Amino acid sequence: MGKQILRAFALRMTLRVRFFAALRMTAKWQGYFRMKKVIVIGGGFAGLSAAVELTSAGYHVTLVEQRRFLGGRAYSFLDRKTGLALDNGQHILMGCYKNTFRFLEKIGVTDKLYVQKNLHIDFLDTNGNASKLDCLPLPAPLHIASGILRFNALPLTDRFRMLRVAGEMLSGNSKSLSRDCTVSEWLHRLGQSKKAQDTLWNIITLATLNENPDKASAGLFKAVLKQAFFANRQGSRIVLPATPLSRLYVDAAENFIRQREGTIEKGCIASEILIKDHAVTGIRLHDGRVLKGDYYISAVPYDSLQKLLPDKKGISVTPLFSASPIISIHLLFNDSITDYRFAALLNSPIQWIFNKEKLYRDSSYRGLLSIVISGAHQYLDVPSEKLVDLALRELKKTLPDTTSAKLLYSKVIKERFATFSPVPGVNLNRPSQKTPIQNLFLAGDWTDTGLPATIEGAVISGYQCARLIAETDA
Ligand SMILES: Cc1cc2nc3c(=O)[nH]c(=O)nc-3n(C[C@H](O)[C@H](O)[C@H](O)COP(=O)(O)OP(=O)(O)OC[C@H]3O[C@@H](n4cnc5c(N)ncnc54)[C@H](O)[C@@H]3O)c2cc1C
Repeated sequence: MGKQILRAFALRMTLRVRFFAALRMTAKWQGYFRMKKVIVIGGGFAGLSAAVELTSAGYHVTLVEQRRFLGGRAYSFLDRKTGLALDNGQHILMGCYKNTFRFLEKIGVTDKLYVQKNLHIDFLDTNGNASKLDCLPLPAPLHIASGILRFNALPLTDRFRMLRVAGEMLSGNSKSLSRDCTVSEWLHRLGQSKKAQDTLWNIITLATLNENPDKASAGLFKAVLKQAFFANRQGSRIVLPATPLSRLYVDAAENFIRQREGTIEKGCIASEILIKDHAVTGIRLHDGRVLKGDYYISAVPYDSLQKLLPDKKGISVTPLFSASPIISIHLLFNDSITDYRFAALLNSPIQWIFNKEKLYRDSSYRGLLSIVISGAHQYLDVPSEKLVDLALRELKKTLPDTTSAKLLYSKVIKERFATFSPVPGVNLNRPSQKTPIQNLFLAGDWTDTGLPATIEGAVISGYQCARLIAETDA
């Protein structure tokens, strides 16, 4: 009798547990069906940051990426010959990349960054001289003034003249830039000597705008200088990935989205954005399927968006942008070449050297240097072997240890469409994230962010799309 009561009690308990589990499941599915659906096209920084923001706000996100891997123009891959994960190109972040840090914080990877205490750049001259831009821990703009005044690669008169640019930034005086012009023209107006332009301004322009000063927009340059060097001391610090790019953010962003019921389809090409009566009705995929959502974000480059929108539907995606390339040369030597974590080269076609062993604190990267040539228009058609020879020649002049070291391996990566070319007036062609189509939003470093094509610009655009969707929904 006692056993029977116990058995009946156990059965009741099991049924009760099952009932509540079923109820929870139903609630979960009901919740799922109540969740608004967002389709994101493109898995670069813009698409991933939008997707992360929206999944954490309770949207159901489906992200489609045409390649078999995420990361867009900022990724790493496994190099079969060396077994090392190599970046498609070294990416430099700055302390002022506030939105990027928020994104990286959300996906929990800020510990994988190397963050400077104060702005410090070592410069190596091809004559064998070294100098440094070393900013003292002072409040802005005194920190940058302290760096410029002690930058001994330039005569003192040039350093004082550089302070004129600082004055221009701080006074808010736009007389020297009433109409956008090239960086070279603007610097000339501000009395910058040719030596100062060739030595420091050239490298800052290429690093921030990926374009030569005689082509790049002074308006955009001024915006970057203001934000990066004059807003506050922390904003000027250089921040570098301390691990290959995909390990830094791609894997973590993917996990974050999937853990919150998001779906990611790789190797999935969007072929058309279907529009009817001023609203997107779906995304046609290459395999014939149509994905349907409540909202749609295009986070693809401008040339891809043009193909997705055969009839422009009032969206300005005119082919007015031209591209600016970046060439990366990975050189693996038989031993460590330098103690510098990174250095800039003066008076050289190469702008930067990055020492991956030091950056990653990983001995398997011993002897691996990554070389960067930005705004590399004239080197695009140069064969890779010749680019390696050029890099070795420049390294021998600046880092004498290269002469005795043995080069074991090299890999040249030419990113033809690294960024849009930020020519004067370019901002006039950049569309807003909001479109005339009520449920379609545009993300991407090329949209109107006020910044050049950068990671921070891409993330700003992704966040702006997420914000606009939340506002439309409210
Ligand atoms: C070599 C190199 C060095 C750089 N260095 C720096 C740096 O130091 N600092 C910095 O801030 N920025 C740097 N940048 C720029 C930075 O990488 C970009 O600004 C940023 O990654 C752009 O992100 P995005 O999401 O806007 O576009 P993308 O990264 O281009 O992402 C767009 C994605 O959309 C996908 N896609 C396109 N069409 C379709 C389709 N039809 N269907 C599905 N998917 C599609 C693409 O495959 C791609 O993955 C560098 C870029 C390069 C190439």
